[in-house]
Amino acid sequence: MRLRFAPSPTGPFHIGGARTALFNWAAARKSGGQFLLRMEDTDPERSKREHEEAIYDGLRWLGIDWDEGPDVGGPHGPYRQSERSEVHLGTAAQLRRAGWAYPCFCSRERLDELRASQEAAKLTPRYDGRCRELSEEAAAAQVEAGQPFVLRFRTPEGTTSFKDLIRGEVTFQNEEVDDWVLIRSDGNPTYNFVCVCDDAAMGITHVVRGEEHLVNTPKQILLYEVLGANAPAFAHVPLMLSAAGKKMSKRDGDTGLADYRRAGYSPEATVNFLALQGWALDGETEVFPVEQLIENFDLGRVSKGGSIFDQEKFKWMSGEYLRAEPLSQTAERSRPFVVAAGLTTEADLQGRKDWFERAVEAVRPRVQLYSEIPGALAFLFAPDDALSYDPKAEAGARKRGADGLVALEALAPWLEQRLSGEADSAALGADLKAWVTERGVKFPVVFQPLRCALTGNAGGPELADILLLLGAERVLARLRAGMTRLA
Ligand code: GLU
Repeated sequence: MRLRFAPSPTGPFHIGGARTALFNWAAARKSGGQFLLRMEDTDPERSKREHEEAIYDGLRWLGIDWDEGPDVGGPHGPYRQSERSEVHLGTAAQLRRAGWAYPCFCSRERLDELRASQEAAKLTPRYDGRCRELSEEAAAAQVEAGQPFVLRFRTPEGTTSFKDLIRGEVTFQNEEVDDWVLIRSDGNPTYNFVCVCDDAAMGITHVVRGEEHLVNTPKQILLYEVLGANAPAFAHVPLMLSAAGKKMSKRDGDTGLADYRRAGYSPEATVNFLALQGWALDGETEVFPVEQLIENFDLGRVSKGGSIFDQEKFKWMSGEYLRAEPLSQTAERSRPFVVAAGLTTEADLQGRKDWFERAVEAVRPRVQLYSEIPGALAFLFAPDDALSYDPKAEAGARKRGADGLVALEALAPWLEQRLSGEADSAALGADLKAWVTERGVKFPVVFQPLRCALTGNAGGPELADILLLLGAERVLARLRAGMTRLA
């Protein structure tokens, strides 16, 4: 199998495009075939190198690799459509010679009028074929006279059918297909035309793309037929829908892949979540590694109906992946977020890697995105004498009144001594509880003011983890400040 992902680099890399790329890649890797990238950059105004770069970046982030492409080359290059004019013009000439393409000189005004009158008569707008039967000489004379023209496909009569791998038998009346434009008057070829030229030249065996392209497929199949080329198999994947069941738009949340990366989603979770947009492993297992996707992927089992892009579930899945990955990876990936949040410098975190990993470990059970880690860790980077207290945490601590303060006073020397010893969080936690029990007070009497003084928050990591992360000196400084502030 040879499959391709053929994006148009005309805007941010859409999350739906990433899903299409993933399905193509999974099918290729499962079959042991090839996966290639082709940039469909024939729109000179809208195509931008920065968008192309963003596609490479996004795919690499997801762990999707390609065997051939604009950046890595390959035996069927070039892989940028804008660099393939020779192939396209050659095919156009071949179609003209065989009579399957004809020049059309109809002006924009005439076509607009035609469309308006057809719409008024409730007819499907289509070209009426006026230039279809122009003689070679008449056409040549108009070209000579400098008349602009487009090149149209002479769509034959009949019907066009194909077996979509996802949707089954699909049939179109050729009448609906129209004498579509192959090459525009400015010389630029159209998508349907170059798509076929390049898929054929690149030996593509399976075209997997969004459902919105279904209407293009009969045009493309007819072109393969008249060119005497084998059409690839087609699989049109369902739309990704918003929670409201509508086509996903900016209003429903982020639609760019990079938005999710910036928002701190795990890339592996993103792959897993995208795999579930129209496909399922066994209908039950939701969290599975990419190896299982490849092992089990089957285009025939992609669903016909639109899939719901559930943002909450996506976030949940990211949390699942964060917690399951090696701690060093979570630390590595959250570091840029911590630095960007202004908590500290890269060098600081590099200089105390172990400490940072322990800090991440302490908060990881409560986050779903890498970007949530700075917020959860912020208290550790605050100055000990000027920690900001969350009003709720402070009110809770104050409610414990003098009992709480007296307990903190007594706890301070115990902690000073205890924290200079071994650094086992579970043992420290147990000893701390035993200390409170021995004093004969309820846990919250000590723990609420203690947590407030140490973190300024009402919730967060285990107290023992916090104590060990801060260390004796900072703990005492915070306790001193806390006892003054809460008094
Ligand atoms: N450039 C087209 C797109 O981005 C490719 C469609 C196809 O895969 O044929 O939608």
